[in-house]
Amino acid sequence: MADSQKTVADLGEFGLLAEINAILPGGYTAGPLLLPFGDDCAAVPWPEDALLVSSDAMVEGIHFSRDWTEPEDLAWKSLASAVSDLAAKGAEPVGALVTLGLPPEMEVDWILRMYRFWRRLDEPWICPILGGDTVRSPVFFLDILVFGKPVTGMPISMAGAREGDQILVTGTLGDAVAGLAVLQSKGNVSCDSTAGYLVQRFLRPRPRVSETRDLLLAGLIPTAMTDISDGLTRSVSNLCTASGVGAEIRAERLPVSAALDEWAGSGSRRMAWQGGEDYEILLTVSGDLIGTALEVARQIKVSLTHIGEICGNRNEIRVTGLDVTDLPCGYDHFR
Ligand SMILES: [Mg+2]
Repeated sequence: MADSQKTVADLGEFGLLAEINAILPGGYTAGPLLLPFGDDCAAVPWPEDALLVSSDAMVEGIHFSRDWTEPEDLAWKSLASAVSDLAAKGAEPVGALVTLGLPPEMEVDWILRMYRFWRRLDEPWICPILGGDTVRSPVFFLDILVFGKPVTGMPISMAGAREGDQILVTGTLGDAVAGLAVLQSKGNVSCDSTAGYLVQRFLRPRPRVSETRDLLLAGLIPTAMTDISDGLTRSVSNLCTASGVGAEIRAERLPVSAALDEWAGSGSRRMAWQGGEDYEILLTVSGDLIGTALEVARQIKVSLTHIGEICGNRNEIRVTGLDVTDLPCGYDHFR
């Protein structure tokens, strides 16, 4: 097939990004890039440290349905997923711009409820909405651009992992994908049940801004870090590609919540490996620091689990304790 006839579906999300990235850096690199192209955020030098920027779009019918998403849930999740990219670089949010794509028949109150919610949200990861844009669109979407400052003055890239580094994750994995399955099968569920917990993990993920800040301020500087937005399998793959290394993951160590264990039984570790949208953090530390890292995390009450090791074979990702041969590699928006 000629290049000019290829569709987005032919290339897939990551093929498309690779083609765009091949065009952009040469034309746009006016100054030093503080993070490699394609990392969670763009980072530009700023007086004294750096400014980090990231954006995240959500489209009705693709990322959410108003049948099972309230305005408050969408407001939370859209801002949280954008802020998560800042947390993944060890940065704290300063502000956000919101672009809305609106069908003319959309009810105004639905939109205003999002803004009222943002205004009154009191969470450690929240930042003020400073403006944005509104455009007419055949489908409802919103795009949130967030910017922030690195806690230690420099962002943590996803490209710094080296052979022998140890791999860690915050929190638990797989809850969100289970929560989505609950929503799609049953609609509303009560919030005190196991299913309710999983649904909350899907609708109201908490970006790990204070966790990464506290780890950095305690002196634990990861060699590489990224957020787990499209599933651990994709995040490990992205980090390894950026760093030019491979990884060995021990599936029996993957942290799963009691709720997921109860809901998914023996399938929980597969969901932890593959499921997306938990917005936890994947990080690597040099091998001699693994004991210190776990001890520091325990002292400052950050949930951190040691799940594997970086190996030298570029892009070779081995998973022990789980048959992953039939699992597709993470989430691709166009396939
Ligand atoms: Mg990310």
